[in-house]
Amino acid sequence: FGANSAAARDIANVLHPYTDLESHQQVGPVVITRGQGVRVWDEAGKEYIESVAGLWCAALGFDNERLVQAAVTQMRKLPFYHGFTAKSHEPMIDLAEMLIARAPVPMSKVFFANSGSEANDSAIKMVWYMNNALGRPLKKKIIGRVKGYHGITIGSASLTGLAANHRSFDVPLPGFLHANTPHHYHGARPGESEDDYATRCARELEDLILEEGPETVAAMWAEPVMGAGGVILPPRGYFPKIQAVLKKYDILMVADEVICGFWRTGTYWGSQSFDIQPDILVCAKALSSSFLPISAVMVNEPVFQAIAKESHTIGTFGHGFTYSGHPVPAAVAIETLKIYDDLDIGSHVAVTGPHMQAELQRRFAGHPLVGEVRGIGLIGAIELVADKAAHANFPPAAKVGPRLSRLCEENGVIGRTLANDVLAFSPPLIMTKDEIDEMLTRVGKALDELTVQLRR
Ligand code: PLP
Repeated sequence: FGANSAAARDIANVLHPYTDLESHQQVGPVVITRGQGVRVWDEAGKEYIESVAGLWCAALGFDNERLVQAAVTQMRKLPFYHGFTAKSHEPMIDLAEMLIARAPVPMSKVFFANSGSEANDSAIKMVWYMNNALGRPLKKKIIGRVKGYHGITIGSASLTGLAANHRSFDVPLPGFLHANTPHHYHGARPGESEDDYATRCARELEDLILEEGPETVAAMWAEPVMGAGGVILPPRGYFPKIQAVLKKYDILMVADEVICGFWRTGTYWGSQSFDIQPDILVCAKALSSSFLPISAVMVNEPVFQAIAKESHTIGTFGHGFTYSGHPVPAAVAIETLKIYDDLDIGSHVAVTGPHMQAELQRRFAGHPLVGEVRGIGLIGAIELVADKAAHANFPPAAKVGPRLSRLCEENGVIGRTLANDVLAFSPPLIMTKDEIDEMLTRVGKALDELTVQLRR
């Protein structure tokens, strides 16, 4: 690329997340310049299908005039106001009302933030604050899960159960625990059914709680489907079983719906696909189809009452962001939720989701490199393995996943590979069956090219 190209200026000026920054100085970025529907184009005019909707988030794709108009109209009317010290504005109120009306279980109030990480940090602080109100200052430990992903701020990174988000950052903070990853494919014993495996996961969770002391454990966080940790679906019956354990010890269930919310798993919330009854629900990403940043924390009535009591005792709920419930992203989120309703996106995903799952199975389950094909609704994955019988992954040093990502790009798909060489699919919810087929045909070519490379 030329000295003045966007790529060269990027190398000179930008510090990128999730990147080997030394290599980046030589290789440079793919600079995306425009988008339309489920596709984006780079500087050179090359077209790509976005198989993960950016970062599991651009649910309505990469252009939408109604969302543009919603932002422009709100900017003209009231470009900024806040919710501190009992001020409010209509976009924040309307959006809170819409979320409560759509919640999977009765919810009482909504707190707004700007990102999934901030929403999870806010929920952690709410849980701590609540237990102060309830006179149990020791009940503060929080359980995440190994391979869970909840963000990268200090609190949410502590909840996250991925080594790459801990290493060299001095997290997790004390008091954050991680339960086992409930992945039947890797975790089950020979012959162990999904049901038996789920029972064992619940028993292991109970052992962890008893070891720590139930009076010290406040809440457990879980994504309905683990996203960044590898698109891992819980074994059948997992959530009812672990929720019985949590109830027994008066431990809150927090659903991190940052990826799964808004029809991703085929139901409005991932919680509904897996029988989760959260006390607190966190969402972001598809809340605004990611046209502007906004996230939300919904809390049920008992949690709200405890927070209200503590705020009365000490005189304030001393937590909030300048941009909590910012009117412009809130207006875009309201319009996004209306579009989901108007398009009847749930009925669309009821057709395209099973189609994507069936096509993933048909095209890839028998492939010599593919160990497991998994998914639900419009989220899915293929996991590559060195040994199909042993379910054994390639060594990380072989960089099989990154090589597959690169081949996908060469074939016109932006594809995200995760640890253990898992290629994730989380396309825009508007993707048609034909576009799914086109995406998977391109991925199939990339996979065949990778197979040839690995044979050499
Ligand atoms: N929670 C889940 C389940 C996520 O997938 C993510 C991001 O991918 C987050 C939280 C963090 O969100 P953000 O990147 O907006 O901080």
